[in-house]
Amino acid sequence: MNLWDRARTLMPGGVNSPVRSFGAVGGDPFFVRRGEGPWIEDTEGRRYLDYVQSWGPLILGHAHPVVVDAVDRQLSLGTSYGAPTEGGVELAERLVRLVPSMEMVRLVSSGTEATMTALRLARAATGRDRFLKFTGCYHGHADPFLVAAGSGVATLGLPNSPGVPESSVVTTAVLPFNDLDAVEGLLRERGEEFAAVFLEPVMGNAGFIPPEPGFLEGLREVTERHGVLLVFDEVMTGFRVGLGGAQGLYGVTPDLTTLGKVIGGGLPVGAFGGRRDLMERMAPTGPVYQAGTLSGNPLATAAGNAQLAWLEEHDPYPGLESYASRLVEGVLEAFRDAGAPASGQAIGSMWGVFLREGPVRSFEEASEGDAERFRRFHRAALERGIFFAPSPFEAGFVSVVHGEEELEVTLRAVREATAASA
Ligand SMILES: *Cc1c(COP(=O)(O)O)cnc(C)c1O
Repeated sequence: MNLWDRARTLMPGGVNSPVRSFGAVGGDPFFVRRGEGPWIEDTEGRRYLDYVQSWGPLILGHAHPVVVDAVDRQLSLGTSYGAPTEGGVELAERLVRLVPSMEMVRLVSSGTEATMTALRLARAATGRDRFLKFTGCYHGHADPFLVAAGSGVATLGLPNSPGVPESSVVTTAVLPFNDLDAVEGLLRERGEEFAAVFLEPVMGNAGFIPPEPGFLEGLREVTERHGVLLVFDEVMTGFRVGLGGAQGLYGVTPDLTTLGKVIGGGLPVGAFGGRRDLMERMAPTGPVYQAGTLSGNPLATAAGNAQLAWLEEHDPYPGLESYASRLVEGVLEAFRDAGAPASGQAIGSMWGVFLREGPVRSFEEASEGDAERFRRFHRAALERGIFFAPSPFEAGFVSVVHGEEELEVTLRAVREATAASA
């Protein structure tokens, strides 16, 4: 039996996280045996230029020496103690220094844990249960966040996964991203019921959708007016759009922030933090409970510290954005030459393309892209050794080891792939 057949017998869909199964693009996924810089190699020895980068964490590329060395050094000292470590303090210091809203922080093991706990804290601090999220923003898989898309009006949430009881999501309201008027209307009417507004300040889980000018500023103002906490889920944007995350880039400071992905250097880490008066409500200084056997794991903090130290020292963001912008330009040109409408953009190391005319401002608009054409293009690109995220609703990533040669190789392959899949 080949690996894919073995995997499918043993694991639902053959995978440990659904999107890895290539459901949105068809075809069988490949199994990775190693990563090196911007490349990954599958178990058949085929190599792919990687624009997925473990879905965001690997901003230095695969097996970067500073990360490998840091993990190596820690490994022989032990993998977990269940007691405080200097590495945990160092990572907390870095996050507090670099992320404007973070006065205090707690380390956890995933983005899901971070957002789940940030919501608990927001509810505890405000004494309110309801919260607002935006269609297409992903905040991990905790029950209250798994809510069907609204349709232009604030709706009571309906679960979009079996097993999520209605009682878990009746407190979740959903509105379209970039629709400040709708948020103002909702909070004007029932602001005193809302604990928090959660969002990805730059959307990366519905394709790549930046905030319109004034959207983040407007949210800051309207939440403050109604005593509602503003929570930026920067699990993806943190250290991807810039050193200070989206809040540094746009100059809007939320009350709470969640992080993950890049801050773990490819090992499992999440974090949430923000205003001191809020964070001090967490146990053991306060009554809001949260805990984790592997929280602040020493291997993970070693990798995260090494990666963040490198980023702080080298400030690679202008170069990353230059690569990502030229990549987007090239991809758009190739699609247009092949007769397909396309739009897209890049910020820092994140980028995205929609197969429809722009601008795309929301998940609702993103859904109008040509999904069938994307499927064909994805396969054609993969056959030419380029690994783009296997869904039209994912952001793309570049790393510091994607260079001129990789850009050239990519754009040549993209040109062939768009023509072949027209
Ligand atoms: C990936 C992601 C999460 C979930 O993080 P996990 O580590 O996969 O649990 C939450 N929010 C955003 C914005 C993400 O991109």
